Formats: sequence, C-alpha cells, structure tokens
Amino acid sequence: MTSLLAAIGQLGCADDYDPNSLHVEKAREITRALVEPVSGVERLFVRNALGRIIAEDVISPRDVPGHDNSAMDGYALRFSDLTTNAETLLRVAGTAYAGRPFAGQIGQGECVRVMTGAVLPAQTDTVVIQEVVHVQGAQAQQLALIPVGQKIGQNTRRAGEDLRAGLPALRAGHLIRPSELGLLASLGIAEVSVRRRLRVAIFSTGDELCSIGSTPAPGEIFDSNRYTLYGMLTRLGCDVLDLGVVRDNPQALEAALVQAAENADAIITSGGVSVGEADFIRELMARLGEVMFWKIAMKPGRPMAFGKIGNAWLFGLPGNPVAVMVTFYQFAREALLKMMGATLEPVPLPRVPCVTPLKKNPGRTEFQRGVLFQENGAWKVRVSGAQGSGILRSMAEANCFIILEHERGSVAAGDLVSVQLMEGIA
Ligand code: AMP
Ligand code: MG
Repeated sequence: MTSLLAAIGQLGCADDYDPNSLHVEKAREITRALVEPVSGVERLFVRNALGRIIAEDVISPRDVPGHDNSAMDGYALRFSDLTTNAETLLRVAGTAYAGRPFAGQIGQGECVRVMTGAVLPAQTDTVVIQEVVHVQGAQAQQLALIPVGQKIGQNTRRAGEDLRAGLPALRAGHLIRPSELGLLASLGIAEVSVRRRLRVAIFSTGDELCSIGSTPAPGEIFDSNRYTLYGMLTRLGCDVLDLGVVRDNPQALEAALVQAAENADAIITSGGVSVGEADFIRELMARLGEVMFWKIAMKPGRPMAFGKIGNAWLFGLPGNPVAVMVTFYQFAREALLKMMGATLEPVPLPRVPCVTPLKKNPGRTEFQRGVLFQENGAWKVRVSGAQGSGILRSMAEANCFIILEHERGSVAAGDLVSVQLMEGIA
C-alpha cells in the first residue's frame, strides 16, 4: 500500500474511501488532514503583518485599559456618598481630562467632572452622565445635583477589562485583520511573529490555451484559470509562482512539475485530469511522486488529483473555469490555510429561501452560483444565470454559492438552502 493510502487508512476513512465516487466531505477531510503547516517564522512590524497568520501566542505585556477610566463625559463620585431615596448635592472638586488626571483627593460629599477616557479619580467608583446632572453655582464653587437611581460602577471601564497582563491576547493560528492590528497597537506591541508566506506554483495545461497578449489561433482559447487562481491565492495571502501554460506533452509537464516542486510548498494545476487525458499524467505522476486521482461526487468539478511531488503538495484541479474555482474553494483553500499555519474555522452556511426551483438528483454535492438579495426586508437567494461549468459570467455575477447537499433532491421555489458567501467585509 502506498504511504498516502496508508495515511488515509490511519485517518479512519479507508472504509468509505472510493476514489471513483468520493464524497465531497471525505475528500475535504483527507486533503485537510494530510497537509502540515510550514515551519518558517518571521518577525514583522505590525502594519506589515496584515493578512498574515500569528506564529506564537501573543502574551499581553500590560493591562488594557491600563487604569480605571470614565466611559462617558460626566461626574465621578463615590457611590456610598449618594442618598438612596433623594437627590444628592455634591461639590465639584475639579476636572479630569483624557490624558490629564485629577491630581487631588476628594473628600466626602465631593465629585469630579470627568471626560471620556479620563483616569477615574482616586476613591471614585461611579460616573453619572452629564446630561442628567444639574450644575449650580459659579466656576470655583460648583455644586452638582445627582438624581436618584444610579448604579455602583456605572459608566466606568475597569483596568484590564479588555486585555489582562500575562494572558494570551491573540493565539497562534489567528489571522491578522484590521482589528488585530489595532489590538496589537493597543498593547504597545510594534513587532509580531508570523508564519512565512506560502509559495504556490501554478500552471495551466492544454494544447488549446493561449496566454493573454497573444492572438489565439483557430480553435484556441485564452487561459483564464491562471488568473482566477492568481486572484484566489493572492486573496488567501500566498505568494504565487506563475509557470504559465504547459502543453499536453509529457516532457513539458514533467519539467514544469519538477520546477514547481523545487520552488514551492504547493502546486496547483488546471486541466488534464479528466478520464480522457489522465492516463499519461498518471504515469508521469507515479514516477515523480505519489498522486491520487479522484472522481468526486460533485458538480461542477468531478475529476481532481491530489498528492505529493517531492516536498510539494499537488492539487490537480479540473480544466473548466468554474470547476477550478469551486474545487479551489472546497478543497485547496482549507488545506492551504492549514499549511499557512492558520486555525481552521468553519465557514458560515446560513440557510435562506431559494426563489429558483433547482433540479437535482441525490448522490452528489452541487455548488450553484447564487445571488443573495433582499425582498421586502427578507434575504433570499436566486441562481445567477447559466450554470455550465465553463461559464464565468454567472460566477462574476454571483455573490454566493448555493450548496445542495449530497443526499438532497430537487429544490422547489421557496425551499431553504445553504449559502456560502464569497466576500466578507474585513
Ligand atoms: P480539461 O480538464 O483539460 O479536459 O479541460 C476541460 C475544459 O476546460 C476544456 O473545455 C478546456 O478547454 C477548458 N480549459 C482547460 N484549461 C483552461 C484554462 N486554463 N482556461 C480556460 N479554459 C480552460
Ligand atoms: Mg485539457
């Protein structure tokens, strides 16, 4: 038994491992389980770390906030000075601004005017918002009339309530987004350890392909897969090594695979894995490494190859442009994220009514291109247009995938379906 098949056996999924009709979930589980994170780590200035994966837990060097402070503009006081059943008149002893604390002490029956973010004056524990306080008297001798109904601790922010010194503020595996940049800055951290970028080599296979910039001969088509792959990989945070178009010829393919394996952590190819074409590729792959050829029970994107050439993991995606994108998102994405050192989070799959009736037979997972839209305030989904696996227009017009699960049959208009959003906001 080959080592990849042995590894699949150890995953406990050998029983239902059928390369000629592999369940989407099984294929995803196998690809995800077999790859390992790359080990390289680099230290970057916080801003340069956007989009990277944290390599080691970041331990908070200090409390954030560093001191108890006011959450509102108002009056800081000792709750115990307030009368329970009647208004309380307190002397205003001074003012505390953000960055300019009140230096003095307050005595019984006194309060301090405070601005948002100002350090809470010593002994005070409660802030009453300025809008409900009636102030009387001249500048130096102001009195504040505090209404009844205050709660102890209200409108204050406690030291360490956001982040506590000595505790992990961010865990290894966490993706650095704008909020993480801000969080690191709030801790005073200027440099962070992140995983090195993943290097992914891509090439397209096909005698019919012509690269943009040249004129297609009769029967040739432009190679679009390298562009969608470039986009998806760049968005994921990978460095892309583009090896161009490779002809359907064993020597050219071998040279490209060897070059890719020597220079990248992963190789993503498109085309040439369908039954008609796979034979000589199988032979070639068997010589260069260990690659499994799968027929996945899905639409679009049935044929796919997965395995290892040298030290690089290979994803041999189908040639059809939409199938490339679907198989990338459903299989390559999670595996690459794991290689990048990211903690895998499930992608949300909200359920919404589908207004388009959809024909489907149980026994394969289908990914339709959908448009989520709002009608009378409720979110619904419709298909985005013709669903052929070569039709990129309906992909460009879509904002989500409609996922029709393996066991599911046809969908009537109004039935709930799971959708997977293509874009987030952060
Ligand atoms: P294949 O999987 O190689 O049999 O290709 C399936 C279909 O996808 C064929 O119609 C190919 O012409 C098309 N195709 C393959 N590679 C590309 C590519 N890089 N860009 C656009 N279409 C492609
Ligand atoms: Mg081909």
